[in-house]
Amino acid sequence: MSAKDFSQTIYGKSRRGRHGYHISSRPTEAPRDIPREYLREGRIGLPEVAELQVLRHYVDLSTKNHHVEKDLFPLGSCTMKYNPKVNEEVAAMPGFAGLHPEQSDDDAQGALAVMHALEQALVAVSGMDAVSAQPAAGAQGEMLGLLLARAYFADRKESRHKVLVPDTAHGTNPATASIVGFETKTFASGKDGRVDLDTLRAALDDDVAVLMLTVPNTLGLFEPHIGEIVDLVHQRGGLCYMDGANMNALMGQARPGDFGFDMMHFNLHKTFSTPHGGGGPGSGPVAVRAHLEPFLPTPRVVEKDGKYRLDYQRPKSVGALHSFFGNFGIYLRAYTYITRLGADGIRRASSTAILNANYLAKRVAPAYPVPYGERCMHEFVATGEPLKKHGVKTLDVAKRLLDFGFYAPTIYFPLVVPEALMVEPTETEGRETLDRFADAMLQIAREAAETPDVLLSAPTKTPVRRVDEASANRTPVITVPMD
Ligand SMILES: *Cc1c(COP(=O)(O)O)cnc(C)c1O
Repeated sequence: MSAKDFSQTIYGKSRRGRHGYHISSRPTEAPRDIPREYLREGRIGLPEVAELQVLRHYVDLSTKNHHVEKDLFPLGSCTMKYNPKVNEEVAAMPGFAGLHPEQSDDDAQGALAVMHALEQALVAVSGMDAVSAQPAAGAQGEMLGLLLARAYFADRKESRHKVLVPDTAHGTNPATASIVGFETKTFASGKDGRVDLDTLRAALDDDVAVLMLTVPNTLGLFEPHIGEIVDLVHQRGGLCYMDGANMNALMGQARPGDFGFDMMHFNLHKTFSTPHGGGGPGSGPVAVRAHLEPFLPTPRVVEKDGKYRLDYQRPKSVGALHSFFGNFGIYLRAYTYITRLGADGIRRASSTAILNANYLAKRVAPAYPVPYGERCMHEFVATGEPLKKHGVKTLDVAKRLLDFGFYAPTIYFPLVVPEALMVEPTETEGRETLDRFADAMLQIAREAAETPDVLLSAPTKTPVRRVDEASANRTPVITVPMD
């Protein structure tokens, strides 16, 4: 029997959808004509356990790992804020969850309306002209941004090869530049941790295609000369890309479009409270000014007279980046978050994130100085340098924090701060949590002076003690012993 006949026997006849994939109807009758050797004779042999046992198993597993529902997750640059449960309820609504991506536009008007409304909300937050929600992560958004730049310059018959990034840039920026075929040129930040205009001027030439800049930067600092920075690049014919991973500091406060950026990405799984990594797929929508709009990926959701459709007829488009339309379930969660908060709520969330970071920075600074900036935005970078005289490194502080029931901050990044500890509490934490965290940090600094061995052998209270990170990365053991 051919594979096609086999599949029709089981699933019934199929039809082809918009993209040529088969859509099958549900099985209507018991499978027939399956060769004997493929039929199971005995029982399937799965363990038979009660619901309660299953539940206990998963609750137990969930306590072995750290997550924001257990306690603070101050991982700088990653914005690990609480993901409200109502987001999940909306995403699970049958009208959304039961949709098939091959359904016709007429059948999916509600879903298309949400995609359109989310893109329009992000247009408003960014101050740009158009958004494509398609990229599946911030890094893929960066890739789209540079593909747009490549298409834009090719369209103008210009050839430019360089991408400029400051030395505080996230690793994905140069990685993206390289994947899209650009050459990365890194320039040093100024003494204040921000872009130095003279250094930038010296780095600029007619071969620079794009300046990629994170605002506020990874030190949690805003660029007071942002308008001049963007003007300098534009004067040499280059484009400016804003890495929007730190939009938690800007949303509702200031718009990258007003700074003059040509394009940017959002990380819905950071700023807009959708799950990260293991919690689900990400989403990295890209916002652009009008001159880059023709190059955005297909399809685009378009609206005319209250009716939505997907537009595939875009001759200058860089093509599709993701199957179908991107991670639709994530759009629902982000859109729920945005509409629940509204414009005022979004601004308040951002203000609170900034306040929380500044409060925490001031509380830990006596033991862990913050070398750059009097005040920070949504995150700050402290240094564990003073503990080195006791033989204690930032890595030890991070490990000891696990014993206090906290996740560790981002460490050893950005590289311009020695023994860096990058802390981002987010707006979803209250004063009590911030104080507990600050107290733990200060106690760890005292332990460094009095009982440094405690830090060197930490963590002692976690299911897995300190691992040899180099071998863990090179030869990971990814099975879990069952007991
Ligand atoms: C998280 C982050 C990225 C990459 O985003 P992903 O969604 O993880 O791909 C890029 N730049 C900065 C500054 C980030 O913090």
